[in-house]
Amino acid sequence: MPDTLNISNLGFQRTLKKEVFCEGIGLHSGKKTKIQILPADVNTGITFIRKDLAKNQKIDALYKNVIDTKLGTTIANKAGYKVHTIEHLMSAFMGLKIDNAKIILSGSEIPIMDGSARVFLDLINSVGIKEQYAKKKVIKILKEVTFSQNNSSITIYPSDNFSIDYMIDFDDPVIGIQRQKITLLANNYDKEIGSARTFGMLNEVEYMHKNGLALGGSINNAIVVDNGKVLNPDGLRYKDEFVRHKILDLCGDIYLSGYHLMGDIVAKCAGHEVNNKFLWELFSNKSNYEVIEENKIIPQEEISFAVA
Ligand SMILES: [Zn+2]
Repeated sequence: MPDTLNISNLGFQRTLKKEVFCEGIGLHSGKKTKIQILPADVNTGITFIRKDLAKNQKIDALYKNVIDTKLGTTIANKAGYKVHTIEHLMSAFMGLKIDNAKIILSGSEIPIMDGSARVFLDLINSVGIKEQYAKKKVIKILKEVTFSQNNSSITIYPSDNFSIDYMIDFDDPVIGIQRQKITLLANNYDKEIGSARTFGMLNEVEYMHKNGLALGGSINNAIVVDNGKVLNPDGLRYKDEFVRHKILDLCGDIYLSGYHLMGDIVAKCAGHEVNNKFLWELFSNKSNYEVIEENKIIPQEEISFAVA
C-alpha cells in the first residue's frame, strides 16, 4: 500500500486477515456488549449483522441509514433495527484503509471501549490486513462543497490527497480554541488520531445519567472536563486531544459515504449531525464528484504487477 493515494496509485481493497473479538460496555445501555469483526468479500463494504434478531439482521454502514446523531451515530435498516455508536469503529476502518468487513453483534451497540479507536486498531493490527483483488472505491471531489449550520461548517475542496483541517472553539479554558490539520492518506492515523478519546463536561455527564442517557459513559471511556480541569487522573493523551477526537469522529462519519474521499476538508465546530448532513449535501449533486473507475485509471498490466 503506498503512503499516499492519488490518481496514479489508488490501491487495492483491504480486509482483515482473520476474525477478532471484542467485548465492552455499551455507551447508551451501560451493559456489556460483544462484537466479532470478520473479513468480508470485495465490494461488500462494511456491514453490521445483529445475531440477536431472527430476521432483518443486516444493517449497511451507509450515510443514508443514519437515523440518529445524538450521543454518537446510529444507523438502522429498512425494518428499523438499529446499531448505535458505530463511529469510532468506522473511524478505525477508515484509518486502516479497510474496505470490507462484517461485524456481528450480540445486541444493538458497539462497545465504547476507552472512548477512542485504540482497541479496534490494535485488535485488527494483531491479526493483520490483506489486500483483495479489486480496486478501492474512490470519490474524487470536482468542486468545493460546503454544508453549514449555525456556527458549524464542513467544506471539501478538490485535491489529489485527503486531509482534514479542523477547528473547535469551546468556552471551557481547558479546551478553548484548538486547530489541527492532518493528511490522512499518509499512514499517520494510528499515531496521530487513533488514541484520541471522546470528551464531555462533568455537568452534562451528570445530567445525562440522571435522565437515563449515556449510562455507560464514565471517566474510563471519556475525558471529563470541569471548569478548566481535566478530571481523568492520567490527564490527556495528546495536548490537543479534543480536536483530534473530532477528527476521529469525522473520519468515521464520512466513511459512511462508502468510498475513500479524495479532497481536502476544512471543518469548524461540527458534530455527528453536521458530518452526516455534509454527506447528503455532497451526494445531492452529481457534478460535485466523480467515482473513479479502476480501468480508466490503472492499466491492467500495472495491476498484475502490483499484486505480484
Ligand atoms: Zn467520538
